[in-house]
Amino acid sequence: MTILPIVWAPDPVLKTKCLHVTSVGEAEKQLMKDMLETMYNAPGVGLAAPQVGITKRIIVVDCARTDEPPAPYKMINPELIDSSKEEVINEEGCLSLPGHYADVSRPSTARVRYLDENGNQQIMDTEGLLAVCIQHEIDHLDGITFDQHVSPMIWKEAVEQAKKKLNNA
Ligand code: ZN
Repeated sequence: MTILPIVWAPDPVLKTKCLHVTSVGEAEKQLMKDMLETMYNAPGVGLAAPQVGITKRIIVVDCARTDEPPAPYKMINPELIDSSKEEVINEEGCLSLPGHYADVSRPSTARVRYLDENGNQQIMDTEGLLAVCIQHEIDHLDGITFDQHVSPMIWKEAVEQAKKKLNNA
């Protein structure tokens, strides 16, 4: 088990468009295992490869509640192939922007296509927190962080709040 160091904004790796994975091998499997350990340790509900400095299209998520058994997903080359017009607002945070929280509006359901750790294509319909989390993580693969989904005024407030928390820590 390896806990990987998490990259914080404004590291340029977080603004990088990540590369498609052309074959799934031991390196990718190990990376996803380590990414899950890193995510659970943080703790968080999702992590994208660029957040550990690797510009490959790989994400891991686990949105199970604390009273539910773990439900980890490892996704290679994940893409949204459909999403609802209806949006939901959720308070989001990000392990690369510690202490920052803001309400983000996103489609409430999403159909995602990805390769699993055996290189098999999967298509999954998601809703609720899982749908939101997967959209947040796929954004990371395109160099997008969640502050880009909120107005400058709201983000300024999130930054102020984060500073306050840091000063009180
Ligand atoms: Zn994030």
